[in-house]
Amino acid sequence: MAASPTVSADLIAGLEAAVGREACLSRPDELFVYECDALTLHTGPPVAVVLPQDTAQVQRVVRTCRAHGAPFVPRGAGTGLSGGATAPDGAVVIECSRMNRILEVNAEDRYAVVEPGVVNARLSEAVESLGLFYAPDPSSQQACTIGGNIAENSGGPHTLKYGTTTNHVLAVSLVLPDGELLELGSPCGWSPGHDLVGAVVGSEGTLGVVTRAIVRLTPIPEQVETVLGIFPDVVKACRAVGSIIRSGLVPSALEILDQRTIHAVEDSVYAAGLPRDAGAVLIAELDGAASALVPQAEQVQRLAESAGALRVERARDAEERQRFWKARKGAFGAMGRLAPDLYVHDAVVPRSKLPEVLAEVCAIGDRHGLTLSNVFHAGDGNLHPNISFDRRDEDERARVLLAGQEILELCVRMGGVITGEHGVGTEKRDFIGLVFGESDLEAMKHLRAAFDPDRVCNPGKIFPTTRFCVESNPHARGYDRVPLG
Ligand SMILES: Cc1cc2nc3c(=O)[nH]c(=O)nc-3n(C[C@H](O)[C@H](O)[C@H](O)COP(=O)(O)OP(=O)(O)OC[C@H]3O[C@@H](n4cnc5c(N)ncnc54)[C@H](O)[C@@H]3O)c2cc1C
Repeated sequence: MAASPTVSADLIAGLEAAVGREACLSRPDELFVYECDALTLHTGPPVAVVLPQDTAQVQRVVRTCRAHGAPFVPRGAGTGLSGGATAPDGAVVIECSRMNRILEVNAEDRYAVVEPGVVNARLSEAVESLGLFYAPDPSSQQACTIGGNIAENSGGPHTLKYGTTTNHVLAVSLVLPDGELLELGSPCGWSPGHDLVGAVVGSEGTLGVVTRAIVRLTPIPEQVETVLGIFPDVVKACRAVGSIIRSGLVPSALEILDQRTIHAVEDSVYAAGLPRDAGAVLIAELDGAASALVPQAEQVQRLAESAGALRVERARDAEERQRFWKARKGAFGAMGRLAPDLYVHDAVVPRSKLPEVLAEVCAIGDRHGLTLSNVFHAGDGNLHPNISFDRRDEDERARVLLAGQEILELCVRMGGVITGEHGVGTEKRDFIGLVFGESDLEAMKHLRAAFDPDRVCNPGKIFPTTRFCVESNPHARGYDRVPLG
């Protein structure tokens, strides 16, 4: 199959010269797999995909795109759930998977220098023998890349204790949209002036292409205790989360799976022996000095029981703990058993509102006649209501989108925000007005313009494409009450 005739042959020739012919894809059948990320509701095929091997090649690709007026989109493994790696019209995708080397490990100063295509889980495996690990652990960590994690400021089950990606990135090398290379931050974690590393982390690929990062490594804790609370319903499990946090304990993870999720997992290859009769399970993990952990685990057990747990179990060994985590981290995959498509939502509410919000989220699903399940980072108040559906069914698809909107509005009404870790991307750009006013967005646009004045790096993400009026969003926290122009 030949490249689409509308694509400039000069652009393709320039890209081939930049990365080599074999590392430049432009036939429609080659581009098909790049038409979306894990948000399959939004699609858009790129005009070409390049697979650079190093920073110099990325710079050449960016300069070639600029010379031909083509926008470009950095991409990691494409596991993003907000459409961030999806190509807008006429865009070239810069796929970083071949830049996957761990360049240096410094155990004394506890950092690693990595290329953006390093798969998250591979880094922890590589430094395990040194007694270290890389703490951010998205459930997609067997596939997603450090570059994607930086762009989305990814979290994971252990965010509760260890923070999100931003707490673990010390420095980045960034190819700017004019092809220049910017070095931000330092390996010691201190850097005078504005925190531009902080600005790059979570910028969803709109400021440039990260081609190298220095990330913090963390000592592996001496001991881990994992407690499984089995509850009659998800609301009681949420109440247990509140009591555990109120007690002053700092678990490394507090994760909840509801009954529909438990069944999907137990029917799948991720089965862990979770009780099918449970309305919900709470996985509570504690780590740290061995001497402190047993009393803490006992306290969690007591708190779970007083919140209404039917019973509480403790992982007997590392193998059993791994089984629980395989179930939790495989939960989205297991949902594939329920329907052809899964819409994974992501929103945050104050932890104290979890019981109330969960009850209402389930009611929204029921009201729209949808199959909705919940598996989420309860300790962070980070919800993932998951809707299983078939996107070929127009009516169901419309109900899925409406329910999604109602869930976001509910979370904002309860004092929360529209995303915890998956980003805004294309998915939520038209909902950002629920939490920001015009002046807030203008400040973000100015920051973006300092890096990318012509908006050629991942355009069409984060910022609204439609005119919205904060006045029509009574929950908006913007200072300005003026419609966006
Ligand atoms: C089953 C499943 C479970 C998940 N669990 C979690 C979870 O627990 N926590 C969580 O936070 N997320 C989770 N996610 C979402 C997703 O895995 C993360 O957002 C992840 O960080 C994306 O990484 P990626 O390499 O796939 O990036 P991609 O999807 O390829 O890209 C994501 C964004 O990063 C940008 N980008 C990629 N590489 C670069 C680069 N080198 N320079 C600049 N920008 C770049 C892209 O432009 C895009 O905007 C999950 C997804 C799935 C499918």
